[in-house]
Amino acid sequence: VPALMAGKKGLIMGVANERSIAWGITKALREQGAELAFTYQGDALLKRVAPLAESVGSNIMLPCDVTDQDSIDAVFDVLEEKWGKLDFVLHGIAYSDKSELKGRYVDTSRDNFLQTMDISCFSFTAVAKRAAAMMNEGGALVTLTYYGSERVTPHYNVMGVAKAALEASVRYLAEDLGKDKIRVNALSAGPMKTLAASGIGDFRYILKWNELNSPLRRNVTLEDVGGAGLYLLSNLSSGVTGETHHVDCGYHIVGMKAVDAPDI
Ligand code: NAD
Repeated sequence: VPALMAGKKGLIMGVANERSIAWGITKALREQGAELAFTYQGDALLKRVAPLAESVGSNIMLPCDVTDQDSIDAVFDVLEEKWGKLDFVLHGIAYSDKSELKGRYVDTSRDNFLQTMDISCFSFTAVAKRAAAMMNEGGALVTLTYYGSERVTPHYNVMGVAKAALEASVRYLAEDLGKDKIRVNALSAGPMKTLAASGIGDFRYILKWNELNSPLRRNVTLEDVGGAGLYLLSNLSSGVTGETHHVDCGYHIVGMKAVDAPDI
C-alpha cells in the first residue's frame, strides 16, 4: 500500500518547538511520506525549528511574520520556484497580548483587538489566497481553533472572538475554493500545554477541568491531533470541507460538570 501522503508537498506554519500542535501534525504527515517546508517567526525560533525540520527530512525553512504581507508573499515565491505546486498547508498561528488573556473581554483595547484578528484570523485568508494559486490539482488547507469561539471560556476573551471569525472564514474559503477542488477545514483542539497556551490566564485550571469533565476523562495528546490533522489534510477526508472538527476528548458535547469530577 503506498503511503497516504506519498508525492504530496505541504507547508507547515506555526512550529515553535516540539510541543507545538503543528509539530504533532507534522510528525503524522511525515510518517505517511509527505514532503514538507516550514516557516518560522524570526531568528530566535529558527534555532528551535531547524533541527525539527531536518529531523523530518526538510531543508526548506522560510522566515515569515504574518503581519507583513511581503513576508507571506516571499514564502510563496520561494515555494513556487522550488516546488511549482502545493498540495496542502497547515496554519497553526495565533497571537494576542498576554495582558488581555486574563480578566474581562470588555476591557480589550482597539490595538490588541486588531492585532489579534490580523494574526489569528486574517493571516489564514491571506495564506489561503497565495496557496490556492499553487494548488493546480486541488488541495487541502487546515487551521487550528479552540472551543472558546463557541462558548465563553475564562480568560480566552478576544482570542475567542478571533477564533469565531476564523471558523467563519473557513466556511467562506471552503465555498470560494471548493470549485478548484481545494478543501478548507478547522481542527478545534482541546487545551494543550504549549508556548502559546502559557499566555492564557489560569491555564492549568482549564487543563484540569477538561481532563475531569471530558467524556474520555483525559486531555488530548500530540498524537491525537496528529491523526486528526493527517485525516483533514489527506484524501481520507476527501468529502469534508468547511468543517470545524473537534479533537477534544469530547469536551464540546458536555453541558455540566461530570458527576464524578472532584472540586478543583
Ligand atoms: P505554539 O506557541 O507552539 O504555536 C503558535 C505559533 O504561532 C508559534 O509558532 C508562533 O511563532 C506563531 N506566531 C505567532 N505570531 C506570529 C506571527 N506574527 N507571524 C508568524 N507566526 C506567528 O502554540 P500552539 O498551542 O501549538 O498554537 C498553535 C495554534 O493552535 C494556535 O492557532 C492556537 O490558538 C491553536 N490552539 C491551541 C490550543 C492549546 O491549548 N494550546 C488549543 C486549541 C487551538
